[in-house]
Amino acid sequence: MNRRRMLKTGGMALVGFGLGSCRTGSATSASRPARPAPAVLAPVHASWDRVLRTTVGLRPHRDAGFVLRAERFGDKTLIHDYGHAGAGMSLGWGCGAMVADFAQQASGRRAAVIGCGSPGLTAARQLQRRGFEVTIYAMTVPPNTTSNMSLAGFTPTTALVNRDRRTAEWDAQFVRAAEISYRELQLMVGRTYGVYWMDSYNATDTPTSGTGRGGGRGGEGRSNYATDADLVPESLRPNRFRELLGPGDHPFPTKYAVRTLALSIEPSIYLDALVRDFLAFGGRIVIRKFDAPRDLMTLAEPVVVNCTGLGSYTLFDDKALVPVKGQLTALVPQREIDYRAGGPTSSGVNATMNSRSDGLIVGNLQDPGNWSLEPDEDVRQRNVDAAIEFFSAMRAPKAGARLTRSAPPRIAPPLQSFFDVDS
Ligand SMILES: Cc1cc2nc3c(=O)[nH]c(=O)nc-3n(C[C@H](O)[C@H](O)[C@H](O)COP(=O)(O)OP(=O)(O)OC[C@H]3O[C@@H](n4cnc5c(N)ncnc54)[C@H](O)[C@@H]3O)c2cc1C
Repeated sequence: MNRRRMLKTGGMALVGFGLGSCRTGSATSASRPARPAPAVLAPVHASWDRVLRTTVGLRPHRDAGFVLRAERFGDKTLIHDYGHAGAGMSLGWGCGAMVADFAQQASGRRAAVIGCGSPGLTAARQLQRRGFEVTIYAMTVPPNTTSNMSLAGFTPTTALVNRDRRTAEWDAQFVRAAEISYRELQLMVGRTYGVYWMDSYNATDTPTSGTGRGGGRGGEGRSNYATDADLVPESLRPNRFRELLGPGDHPFPTKYAVRTLALSIEPSIYLDALVRDFLAFGGRIVIRKFDAPRDLMTLAEPVVVNCTGLGSYTLFDDKALVPVKGQLTALVPQREIDYRAGGPTSSGVNATMNSRSDGLIVGNLQDPGNWSLEPDEDVRQRNVDAAIEFFSAMRAPKAGARLTRSAPPRIAPPLQSFFDVDS
């Protein structure tokens, strides 16, 4: 039997972030848990001469969480679907399904979607599936959206909502959005959409404690973000079955490594595929900027969906929106690497690496309130240096050794195992 496919469930911590308690091996052998199969991994080549690019994106955070509601706007129905913070790649399909629920209550079957990032494209597809004729109007389209700047993993809660600003109604929308999106993304696994199941290794010397956050500065403002403990009822808490690899059973420069299963999305492949699907189902894309809500009245469609993300700060004067700056650095891609990994370094910065076909993505940042789209050189330096230190200490496999490959789970990890995962 394929080693970790014996896992009952897959409590996941995205590389370098939040590590909960661990249990080794199969849940069925309660007395003596089976030792998980060792990880034999191709080494990551991290060096400054392999740096391809550094990208910046601003996550659209609201303390009270995303906005998902319908209202009358003159003779139109205006549906808001924005403010997804670090979870817009994860929650798009579910929020889009609820947009379509609202739209079906309106008269007319023509809809305008404003915005062409993940929330806009998924809302547009959900409307098409319900028989709407849809036009997307947007200032920019992929690859020039915030969505293209994401990591992106299935991280449904990142920086999403402050724990003291949630309401029962919002919680219900969140859970529905997460459930629908998780199901939808599972169906998209494969090269066409760039969605994959991927092993994630969290290297640590203390397998029962947290590992801290990777990336650069900016932790202060997010201390109030809701976490697993806030968003997941006790009865639904993940079992946290993760594989704990002991000394000698993994190639990282720490005593232990925790292996979990991650659902990962390649933004450029995924978003382009959504654009293609949207056009194939009769959609139209118009490049247009809206300066004020009254501009929407010039549209012919009776249903208008606002998926402008941080654009709503100006367009709809939503001053509750706060950018949470993120920054990623891409190193030359390595086809032989099909896993994510991260761990501590001497500088205290957690090294992180997410393998994608467009590069090995190292580092991250959550800097609330920072509107700058310029890369922060200090953060870049810190993240790349951390990757170089951590991955140069990785043990290379013996010549001819068979590499451990990522594979889909035998049993899909429950949705809750993706909560508390940061991006
Ligand atoms: C570094 C980083 C890592 C991330 N990692 C993850 C992750 O792992 N998982 C995850 O789920 N999410 C992740 N995210 C978050 C995700 O990228 C965002 O939640 C998502 O992109 C938000 O989408 P959006 O539609 O709000 O913005 P966008 O993708 O920017 O789309 C907004 C659209 O609205 C248009 N628009 C705006 N204003 C106007 C206007 N006035 N007129 C016309 N058009 C307008 C824009 O042109 C654009 O087409 C990450 C983000 C960053 C920066």
